[in-house]
Amino acid sequence: MVLVRYQCCICGENIDKDSQFDPCGVSIFSNLDKDENDQLEAMFFCHYDCFRGSMDLGVRMHLNLEDQE
Ligand SMILES: [Zn+2]
Repeated sequence: MVLVRYQCCICGENIDKDSQFDPCGVSIFSNLDKDENDQLEAMFFCHYDCFRGSMDLGVRMHLNLEDQE
């Protein structure tokens, strides 16, 4: 029984255990080139496969969670 529901910020669907890494969280930091006090952070939920699929092909190769097991 799942008590907490996560909604994917990319496809909008509920995140069930669709991959071995779900649910995932993606954090965004604003103003990275500014002082830490000027930065804001927010985290969103997503499917691992949705996040992976949204990445540029050249960058996707650096997402290596599978290799870290
Ligand atoms: Zn999704």
